[in-house]
Amino acid sequence: NSTVVCFGELLVDFVPTVGGLSLADAPAFKKAPGGAPANVAVGICRLGGTAAFVGKVGEDEFGLMLVNVLKTNKVEVKGVRFDADARTALAFVTLKADGEREFMFYRNPSADMVMRPEELDVELIKHAKVFHFGSISLIAEPTKSTHMAAMKIAKDAEILLSYDPNLRLPLWSSPVAAREGIMSIWNQADIIKVSDEEVNFLTNGGDETLDDVVFELWHPGLKLLVVTDGPEGCRYYTPDFHGKVESFKVHPVDTTGAGDAFMAGLLSKLVDNDFGLLHHEGKLRDALWFANACGAITTTERGAIPALPDTETVLRLMSKESM
Ligand code: ATP
Repeated sequence: NSTVVCFGELLVDFVPTVGGLSLADAPAFKKAPGGAPANVAVGICRLGGTAAFVGKVGEDEFGLMLVNVLKTNKVEVKGVRFDADARTALAFVTLKADGEREFMFYRNPSADMVMRPEELDVELIKHAKVFHFGSISLIAEPTKSTHMAAMKIAKDAEILLSYDPNLRLPLWSSPVAAREGIMSIWNQADIIKVSDEEVNFLTNGGDETLDDVVFELWHPGLKLLVVTDGPEGCRYYTPDFHGKVESFKVHPVDTTGAGDAFMAGLLSKLVDNDFGLLHHEGKLRDALWFANACGAITTTERGAIPALPDTETVLRLMSKESM
């Protein structure tokens, strides 16, 4: 059985070979597997855990290539579907001079947007310990209904629901639609991971402190809210305690996938500990330190999937820091 089932998009990122240029000026693009939930599944397997990916790609060469990448990384793919009509999603990435990324998507509609509820592998989801998802699968029907159905299967089977919204504004019809869409399933999640930029977006920013803002985002059933902040590490909030865990000093070359690596690290530790660390601050802090290391290492190599670390690499960085 796969302990973590990740649901959502699997796509090809076209990453410019030279950074700091517009899409029009980029001389060439290198293809890289992408899709945050798929990255998380690979991240968990690389750390020695078991994970499955559930989603849809086109019955085309890109779709086959992506599923092969998952297989090579030991991700369970029996929940992946191939669409005969819609093509695998593509995203062209702009690497801006400040290291930030922008995306231009080719989805009209792409295969990930047309997965139907009856295509879900119900048994796969029911037998997991965590069901993890983002918000891109909420943008268009029929995948939105499929996402809702999958959450219901997980909820009914009393599986922990983990949510990383991963805001991609250009995919939504408007910022209001993005905010409403992301918040529409907020109260269903047991664990939520957001970046500090996402917190600003979801709460309209303002002068309040992060702790005050997080209060706005809290919901009664939430067990853990984590706010990541790049090199600053992360903050955590549970019903019983909250605090901050610093990250590691590294030399970042590409931050792609840092958040997904972080999530993979956190979910691996949660599953290993049978979720006990949700009630134990010291153990939770250790898990977040581990997750920070996963994120930090991922920034030191180009691309998401190639940069996701194994446990040995994470422990090496952690032992260096604690010397
Ligand atoms: P993504 O770029 O994948 O969308 P994100 O915005 O979701 O990422 P970040 O906050 O950038 O997530 O990074 C996740 C975690 O990775 C951070 O909380 C931190 O622990 C680690 N991390 C990211 N960037 C750095 C860095 N430059 N130095 C050290 N640690 C980092």
